[in-house]
Amino acid sequence: MQFRDLGAQYRALHHDIDRAVLDVMSSGQFIGGGPVRELEERLADYVGVKHCVTCANGTDALQLALMAWGVGPGDAVFVPDFTFFSSGEVVSAVEATPVFVDVDARSFNIDPVRLEEAVCVVKAEGKLVPRAVVAVDLFGLPADYPAISEICRAHQLLLLEDGAQGFGGSIGGKMACSFGDISTTSFFPAKPLGCYGDGGAVFTDDDEWAALVRSYAVHGKGSMKYDNVRVGMNSRLDTLQAAILLVKLAAFASYEVGDVNRVARWYDGALVGSGLVLPKRFEGYTSSWAQYTVQVPEGCNRAALQAALKERGVPTMVYYPKPMHEQKAFEGAFECPGGCPVTERLCEAVLSLPMGPYVMQTDVDMVSAALRKTMTELT
Ligand SMILES: *Cc1c(COP(=O)(O)O)cnc(C)c1O
Repeated sequence: MQFRDLGAQYRALHHDIDRAVLDVMSSGQFIGGGPVRELEERLADYVGVKHCVTCANGTDALQLALMAWGVGPGDAVFVPDFTFFSSGEVVSAVEATPVFVDVDARSFNIDPVRLEEAVCVVKAEGKLVPRAVVAVDLFGLPADYPAISEICRAHQLLLLEDGAQGFGGSIGGKMACSFGDISTTSFFPAKPLGCYGDGGAVFTDDDEWAALVRSYAVHGKGSMKYDNVRVGMNSRLDTLQAAILLVKLAAFASYEVGDVNRVARWYDGALVGSGLVLPKRFEGYTSSWAQYTVQVPEGCNRAALQAALKERGVPTMVYYPKPMHEQKAFEGAFECPGGCPVTERLCEAVLSLPMGPYVMQTDVDMVSAALRKTMTELT
């Protein structure tokens, strides 16, 4: 079996995807055009925000947001310590300073209590200006936006939702990628909504920021392409990817998010009492299950478990093995007092299982039986 079976999805959707691709090929338009415009409208509708601007990938999407806000040298941006590298990389890329904040052990997302502490420490030190928070919807679960938004309001911080994994999730019916002042997602193939290459999008209700993001994404264009009013980048979503995403978004919205939630419930049922810490459910929250991530119990050798599972034909992944504050690229970054002990522990304990809307109940049973068996053998 595969860790994420993109082939199964293609087999289910191939008639429509093939037609969409061929239509673009015969249209001769490969940058911009109808599919890109239509996709932006559909994405904005789905998320429930005014503007969607597509771009080349989820990392650019984050950076474009920071550029639109003019975040730069001397600014502090608060980022969870447990996330994919991009969430912090973009902060350094615009020459601001990332401040890594510990996460909650059960949601995997930034801990609002530790966030507020970190903001106060940076303010008291007086060297950096707290400007923004990057909140990540890790593994598909929206971050604690009620608490985070409150902190941002109180300290006048901009909120950037990194919804690269969270697209499709919700809190009380409000969709992921609508919680930030600006929110972003990624269409990397293995994300909840993936294309067949790289892609990303920026979401906001703010007219001015949307216009700035559009400009920065196309060489800082002004009134037209050859009028350049600021230094930007070249970050566009290909027409081909937009056409593919139009087909995939329809399936995603109509059944894939529901199906992946059903797979998560199968895992819950099959793994209860196994000794693994299972993903916790939060009242009112819906996850898009970018990953189904368990924590191995103390004393269990995760590397040996992974190797034995591989022998039994079960692929697993470790997202993520290293806290952000330990990445060499961030050497010398701002250290939060108290450190990030929860992240350090999670990096040792997490294990992500095969997941996706096309996983069958028989797959879940096979994975779960292999897990239980291997764990008994190892202890
Ligand atoms: C994948 C990912 C990104 C970056 O997306 P790309 O499209 O690969 O650039 C950013 N943040 C998180 C949390 C991600 O998982």
